[in-house]
Amino acid sequence: MQIKISSNGNAFLGDPKTQLRIGNVAQSCPYEISSKTELQVELELPNFHCNIGGEDPTTGQMACLMCPRSLRDFKREDDHVASICDSLKPHVANIQRLEISGLAEPFWRDRIFEILESLDLNRDSNIKIVTTTNGTLLNKTTRDRWFDLVPKSEIRFSIDATNPETYVRIRRIHEFDLVVENMNQYCRERDPDRHVAVLGNNINMLNVDELDEMVQMTKDNFCHVLSLVPTASVGPHLNDICLNTSNESIFREAAEKAKRKAKELKVNVRFPGNWPA
Ligand code: SF4
Repeated sequence: MQIKISSNGNAFLGDPKTQLRIGNVAQSCPYEISSKTELQVELELPNFHCNIGGEDPTTGQMACLMCPRSLRDFKREDDHVASICDSLKPHVANIQRLEISGLAEPFWRDRIFEILESLDLNRDSNIKIVTTTNGTLLNKTTRDRWFDLVPKSEIRFSIDATNPETYVRIRRIHEFDLVVENMNQYCRERDPDRHVAVLGNNINMLNVDELDEMVQMTKDNFCHVLSLVPTASVGPHLNDICLNTSNESIFREAAEKAKRKAKELKVNVRFPGNWPA
């Protein structure tokens, strides 16, 4: 059973199209969580919790180009994550997979550790933790803490570029070498049977000509999987660089070339989302 919990506490059952609101976990734990086992729970962090752009990205440092946090009408969400965790804690043994998601950086200010520790999770827990990171904060201390605490995980490194020039155009910060080094060290240090590493990139016209290099990057940095998703346009200003009818042949050809490269290098590549057939 899949349950998604927003940062304000609202919980929804099932997939996004048919989902059913089942209550507010910050107020009381719904029956669907307390009575069922093998739950797959997705908990969203509030959208102001990110180090790229910071808490107020539109007036200070900019958020990433394709991120809804970069829009002028960006609004901060309510943060009831601590109350949600209080409510989830007695039922955590029911949860098989916990995804910490949202428009946010989970390692900023050690937020993901705060959540896992507040749920009393440890290396012996029977749970898989899934999250996505921009990789900027996964230094040695953070990696050691992660491996000490988390029994099983899947981390998706969202880098979106294979060189510093493309990286800064998309991410706006000059940290390409740092994030690649953090991903590389993470993959070298992890137990691959316990910790899955995915290079998960959003693809648009700024980086679609780098898919072959992304395949190579996956291999060079020991990730299990390369996942390539067309960037979702968050506003008219991005329509031209996102997948559309006028550029779909470019996306299609780049994907075919990347598949051949992946076969040659024995890299596991996935193309979720609306790639043109
Ligand atoms: S790191 Fe993620 S959440 Fe933060 S600004 Fe970039 S895309 Fe948005």
